[in-house]
Amino acid sequence: MNDTNFTVSKIAHEIRNPLTLINSSLQLIQSMHPEVREFQFWSQTLEDVEYLSQLLNDLSTYTDNRRFFMCEVDLREIFLALEQSLQPYLLEQGLNLSVHLPAQLPPVFGNPVKLKQAFLNLLKNAFEASARNDCVSLSARKYLDQIIIRITDNGCGMTPEVLETLFTPFATHKSGGTGLGLAITKKIIEAHYGKIEVSSTPGRGTVFTITLPHI
Ligand code: ADP
Ligand code: MG
Repeated sequence: MNDTNFTVSKIAHEIRNPLTLINSSLQLIQSMHPEVREFQFWSQTLEDVEYLSQLLNDLSTYTDNRRFFMCEVDLREIFLALEQSLQPYLLEQGLNLSVHLPAQLPPVFGNPVKLKQAFLNLLKNAFEASARNDCVSLSARKYLDQIIIRITDNGCGMTPEVLETLFTPFATHKSGGTGLGLAITKKIIEAHYGKIEVSSTPGRGTVFTITLPHI
């Protein structure tokens, strides 16, 4: 980690402590005085605190450049675990995820936590771009010495202007977005000697293609 990243990480950590206290106090107030939910600015305050916490999470992972532990990773396991943990979110949002995997995939050499984070970022973006009842598809296949992963949505798509700053930190077009998700994802994929490509049509949808070398 260079000095700037180290400082940003430390500051993010220092801000998180009081923020956790504020969040606990708000939760306590809400449970002792349920009528506070009626207060005009209550839910906005909770949302702002949640946003700040998300921003700190993203900031500390963005700057977390330490060389990470690498091992043999079965991407199938990662995708199936993601599919499982996304179920409550999908139910709540009325969205669908279809996962297409071959019976076997050769392993990649990588860090399972970071890879999961990268694919979760891509899936979350796909869902956030989608409308209720839409379906996002996740597929993976082996091609020569690579694994090709595709995340496809039929959501809002992106204009050339949005595409231009897609991987730039803090470039966001969402309320409550941090603009760090894709910057982090790109760093993770490149740290695995992979690449990430995108093709998108406004109003039609988006395809992210990730290529990772396998063992
Ligand atoms: P955030 O999600 O916090 O805004 P990201 O780095 O994950 O930050 O994404 C940056 C921007 O790229 C988003 O605000 C959105 O405008 C656009 N984007 C990313 N993925 C998609 C997608 N699948 N469909 C449409 N727009 C997308
Ligand atoms: Mg995002």
